[in-house]
Amino acid sequence: MDFARMRPHQLRAAIDANLPVVLPIGVLEYHGAHLPSGVDLLAVTEVLSRLGDEIVTLPPFAYGAASHAVAGPEGTGTLHIDASAILPMAEGLFTALLRAGFRNIRGVIHHQTEGFDQGMPTDLAFRLAGRNAIMRFLEAERGPGWWGARGMADYYAAQAQGADPFNWIRILPLFPKGADFPFDHAGRGETALMQALAPETVEIARAGEGDHWYTEDAPGASAALGEAGVRIALGQLRRDVNLP
Ligand SMILES: [Zn+2]
Repeated sequence: MDFARMRPHQLRAAIDANLPVVLPIGVLEYHGAHLPSGVDLLAVTEVLSRLGDEIVTLPPFAYGAASHAVAGPEGTGTLHIDASAILPMAEGLFTALLRAGFRNIRGVIHHQTEGFDQGMPTDLAFRLAGRNAIMRFLEAERGPGWWGARGMADYYAAQAQGADPFNWIRILPLFPKGADFPFDHAGRGETALMQALAPETVEIARAGEGDHWYTEDAPGASAALGEAGVRIALGQLRRDVNLP
């Protein structure tokens, strides 16, 4: 379901059912001459679209901290926005969702997620924003000392079951750690994903342009490989987004 297309009674039903409300998080970044700048965004939005009415999907956030590590800003498709500018927007959004009543809020990101344990600027901004939003929301709702109050005595037991308040907002990589799929930048893996999810955006004959090391294996991509990747991503999303 698309949040922007839902009427109030549908949103209230989604909240009552604790349906996951999912924010696709992306960047616009140069991905070689054969792929569009929205690869990381499209990978998330198109995979999430396969979940249909199993989730509520928010309008995507497309303007992450792409960085200029791969390519500079001029005419490449890379639009870099500093993570410190993203943080207050993200916290504002998460706070608004908490105030709306949602308690199963998820962000899904594909950009720079190869070292997700330590994090990279875009996902760290959303992760910190989620923590700040929960902390401030709880203190405003319950007052200072809310965690130390008697009613929280089951905190650690709840945490063990993933039922504590810090589970209300979680940021997830599109692919699980160690997934059996080539993780790369504009190489065989991402090219295959676009061939499966947005084939009209792929111009494989241009893969050699620019003489980039990271696009050398792109011609080995196929839509079938991309579909295999989509199945892996959907498998972990169904598990980690807490779908019923
Ligand atoms: Zn990418």
